[in-house]
Amino acid sequence: MEQLTIGVDIGGTNFRIGTVDAAGNVFDFESHSSAMFRKEDAAEVLAHVILGYMERYAVRGRVRGIGVGVPAVVSRDKRLVRSAPNLPGFDSLALPELLEAQLCLPVFLDRDVNLLLRSDIDTLRLDADKTILGFYVGTGFGNAIYLDGRFYAGKNGAAGELGHIPMLDLTETCSCGNVGCCEVRCSGRALEQLARQLFPETPVRQVFAKHPDHPALERFVRDLAVPIAAEINILDPDCAVLSGGVLGMPGFPRAVLLAAIHAHVRKPYPATGLDLRFAEPSPTSGVRGGGMLARALLAQTGSRGAYAVQAVYEKRESS
Ligand SMILES: [Zn+2]
Repeated sequence: MEQLTIGVDIGGTNFRIGTVDAAGNVFDFESHSSAMFRKEDAAEVLAHVILGYMERYAVRGRVRGIGVGVPAVVSRDKRLVRSAPNLPGFDSLALPELLEAQLCLPVFLDRDVNLLLRSDIDTLRLDADKTILGFYVGTGFGNAIYLDGRFYAGKNGAAGELGHIPMLDLTETCSCGNVGCCEVRCSGRALEQLARQLFPETPVRQVFAKHPDHPALERFVRDLAVPIAAEINILDPDCAVLSGGVLGMPGFPRAVLLAAIHAHVRKPYPATGLDLRFAEPSPTSGVRGGGMLARALLAQTGSRGAYAVQAVYEKRESS
């Protein structure tokens, strides 16, 4: 019988769940509001939702493990949600162990953007031994750093907070509390604000299609290139993946973004031969990445789950 995994993608707005097979196909996909996780008993609610899902699709007996993505800082050993400003119900929770106790299945945790990049690396058939950067412009500015075949976490698991690099001359306060983070300009939230001021009659999703030559929109797209080029100049990646809801909007001027990135990237290197790829944003991508994460870690932990994951990450660091 085929072995399956479940991917769970908990965003600030939407909660998504689906079953993933060995080939990376997603089926029985569902999307709900994340509002149910804003309370204190978020882990219990999540366990209840996953159990209900497995009953509804009668997959329980075939599922080997579950991969969960959160829009939060996740500890280096991937056992703890450290800082979840959009979903305080998950803050400081040992989420995998709490879920395992209720679901009796191995559960694996990671940042949502790492799941997106995991899925995109596979979809784009990129070389998984290389250095690959993921830039996801959605509500905020998401970033995943994959260095020489491994996701980079940093000391606290907070690496890749590219939306919060400070920019010269910005005076607005960011959602993180700091002043002048690039996310106040480079994010879906910033685009929404701009669109409301300039085109109150146009749905945000249509602004690029309806107003293709507006200088303020072109400026917005050029600004997105600044943090992207900065990280490319630091890490000289083999490939950079560009995606997220904003880049997937109808009429989004991809050529303008590419030209602006090239303008800011240092010459002759890393500019020469720079490999930039657009990945089509998909609501199932995080779920797919979660299922793939669970499958990869089950192979390494021998199905022992969260309790064994720490050893996997420690081994990687010493090897
Ligand atoms: Zn910030």
